[in-house]
Amino acid sequence: MALSGIQIYKLLPQTNCKDCGFPTCLAFAMKLAAKQADLDKCPHVSDEAREQLAESAAPPVRLVTVSADGREVKSGNEIVLFRHEKTFYNPTGLFVRWRDSAPLEEITAQVKEAADYVVEYVGMELTIDGLAIEATGDGDRFAATIKAALDVAQLPLILMATAPDVMAQGLEAAAGTQPLIYGATAETWEAFAELAKKHAAPMAVRAETLSELAELTDRTKEAGVEEIVLDPGVRDLRSMLMLNTLIRRMALKKTFRPLGFPIITFPSECADDEGMVSIVATQAIAKYGGFMVLDQFSPALFYPLLALRTNIYTDPQQPIQVQPGVYEINDPQQDSPVMVTTNFSITYFSVANEVDGSGIPGWLLVADAEGMSVLTAWAAGKFDAERIAKSVKSNNMEQKVSHRRLIIPGHVSVLLGELEEELPDWEIQVGPRESVDLPAYLKLWSPS
Ligand code: SF4
Repeated sequence: MALSGIQIYKLLPQTNCKDCGFPTCLAFAMKLAAKQADLDKCPHVSDEAREQLAESAAPPVRLVTVSADGREVKSGNEIVLFRHEKTFYNPTGLFVRWRDSAPLEEITAQVKEAADYVVEYVGMELTIDGLAIEATGDGDRFAATIKAALDVAQLPLILMATAPDVMAQGLEAAAGTQPLIYGATAETWEAFAELAKKHAAPMAVRAETLSELAELTDRTKEAGVEEIVLDPGVRDLRSMLMLNTLIRRMALKKTFRPLGFPIITFPSECADDEGMVSIVATQAIAKYGGFMVLDQFSPALFYPLLALRTNIYTDPQQPIQVQPGVYEINDPQQDSPVMVTTNFSITYFSVANEVDGSGIPGWLLVADAEGMSVLTAWAAGKFDAERIAKSVKSNNMEQKVSHRRLIIPGHVSVLLGELEEELPDWEIQVGPRESVDLPAYLKLWSPS
């Protein structure tokens, strides 16, 4: 039973020492009750109180970790239903599945292609998270496939088998990693739980109804397995949305512990063509899929999913930023144009990519706008004439270029007059409103 803020407060030391980062014990208690703080932040809470608070302080969605060779995929610890309420913490883990019935050479070649895939998105390198290997026959074949896949890429694993003895062989083959064991049912959960305990691995359970699923997680927990993943068993877009939402609501709003675990989804089992798989996967990333298993690997499928995931799992209160400063593109010289923009990552990369693609050398001056885009920053007073002038001066642009022409984004042409006052030696030029129009603009630009 979750405790209220006042009940939690009564168990805290009530010294208001602020060591937890909150001004008072009551403020900290309220945050704990809202699942927005970690009890460990208070170093003074007594063991007795800690025990009483443990249930209340436990995250409503249990954290589950799958790992191999230092790479981890974590899911859980979420505290809000909607990202804008605070943030989502642990991005959906994207796994690619191979069935061990395929020829080993084919599997290893495909594993290599998927594991080698790296795509850059707003300054981050995005990759797949792990491999899912499914047994279709005997344990020897399963074990051989796992070993062959790990020889190619030491990535976190999801091991899938229906028979516990086959899973046991798979787990031996995956020794040294912490895989997710999938998928125990009402018939097999006891044997799977023994394997999960023996190998200290998390375990996924599957049932046809939510009440059966809750019963299964209760039993699995009682058997000593803490890290559990839920498969509600549905394989269509509508049911998946409904059940995933219901599970997450029950966990967060009712603190219903039996469903307080990450969810695993299988978009490829919901559709035949890649387009529809992509739609199901998109929904699962947005709506509470903690681990996702896809049967196909292709950059066309993964790039948009990785980009979407990055956007959804970014803290909305902390935009992705680049370091303010001056960026040299295409080896600029003294007579190259100087453009100014903000340090919001998407803005920076949009502008930088256009200039880079044009082949025209240029200096890109990135002003500190607290990670906001041009118009937002301007409206918030974070991208004004004073800040731009400060950026020009602090980056010594007068020493770097022989001309005195500064190009500002077309969206903030209103800053022209003020900038002329701030930078009297410079000619302020209004560039295009959209970065896509920069190459054409730069082709006509001249330093005099
Ligand atoms: S660290 Fe503990 S005792 Fe100090 S203010 Fe926070 S909750 Fe109170």
